[in-house]
Amino acid sequence: MNTAGSPKTVTILGATGSVGRSTLDLIARNPARFEVFALTAHRDVAGLAEAARRVGARQAVIGDESLVPSLREALSGTGVEALGGEAAVIEAAGSGAQWTMAAIVGCAGLKPVMHALEGGGTVALANKEALVSAGHLLVNSAKSSGATVLPVDSEHNAIFQCFDRSHPGSVSRVILTASGGPFRRCSLAEMRVATAAQAVAHPNWSMGAKISVDSATLMNKGLELIEAFHLFPLPAEAFQVVIHPQSVIHSLVEYVDGSVLAQLGAPDMRIPIAFTLAWPDRMETPCERLDLVRIGSLEFEEPDSQRFPALGLAREALRSGGAKPAILSAANEIAVASFLESRIGFLDIASIAGETLAGFDPPEPRSIDEVLEVDRQARAIAVAQIGKFAS
Ligand code: NAD
Ligand code: MG
Repeated sequence: MNTAGSPKTVTILGATGSVGRSTLDLIARNPARFEVFALTAHRDVAGLAEAARRVGARQAVIGDESLVPSLREALSGTGVEALGGEAAVIEAAGSGAQWTMAAIVGCAGLKPVMHALEGGGTVALANKEALVSAGHLLVNSAKSSGATVLPVDSEHNAIFQCFDRSHPGSVSRVILTASGGPFRRCSLAEMRVATAAQAVAHPNWSMGAKISVDSATLMNKGLELIEAFHLFPLPAEAFQVVIHPQSVIHSLVEYVDGSVLAQLGAPDMRIPIAFTLAWPDRMETPCERLDLVRIGSLEFEEPDSQRFPALGLAREALRSGGAKPAILSAANEIAVASFLESRIGFLDIASIAGETLAGFDPPEPRSIDEVLEVDRQARAIAVAQIGKFAS
């Protein structure tokens, strides 16, 4: 961290979301340490303008171009430049900041993430769907530009903190923890009639709507298995999942000698975000400290593949490789959006993802445009499925 020298320059993609707001909170608490280049959002003009004013951003970029006039008005007299449109969001990702937070949700973040990686700076990666859909392309791009990828997702951040990157051959297994979500103890009959409000009410974490539903189906953990495979150099079978309802241990790394290292902390995304902001140093956060005596005991259980088939689907997509992870992620995005609109039931999410995954087998995409074409076609197939399930 540049405590004594010049401030670290930062850009936040998805600044109005849950991860974006947690990032802004840390930056606003340390104004001398950071200089904000660009903030982006999709449609939340008021949230974007307020954040840009608060941290003195140079630029505020709204994805929906029709909202540029209202953004301009909200920022008049502040000196913050107001821009808009998809191309402007992608351009902001290549703002030249030393550190870029990639926190757009879904495949919409793919081109911006790619552009940020091409810039060669440090990319704090929260946008797991980008890595799931185009893992090899993103990793190769980071290699050729020299960009540093720091995982923000709490599990991958935990693994990053425990994984001896100079001796990857000494690691035998990585265990990702999952809270089990709000339906961990529910029967299939109860899950069948679960509402969107019940699904987004996560027991431990406060997050955006899409990832909250993914946590309830365990698709989130499935996407995280694929994410981990791209971030850490181990075979697919070396990544395992255990349910840990307290969300105190964020993941574990096992070495060949039987030693297991884990990272623990309060379930507050500002901890992994702060790790990436300060890396390779550390910075203080206002987050709650762990009180192990108050927590008392930590529990672990096997994930139930009957009630949570999404995890198995992700395993299958990871094993098959090629276009399959992109298809799974795209179909899941469509199904989750339909569930949030109460058009389909909770259990239909995994059914739609599974049928789309099984019924579409294009060749492996070789470029971001090809990934986006697979994404588009998979979405169309998933949309057609919605009709079959819609109530
Ligand atoms: P969110 O829905 O709260 O915020 C999403 C952000 O992306 C918003 O700023 C929104 O304006 C922007 N956005 C949405 N669609 C866009 C589009 N088409 N173009 C441009 N911008 C767009 O989501 P979140 O919970 O903050 O999650 C963000 C990402 O981080 C997701 O990929 C999620 O899986 C990952 N993640 C989140 C958490 C968490 O605690 N929330 C934890 C781990 C990983
Ligand atoms: Mg996670």
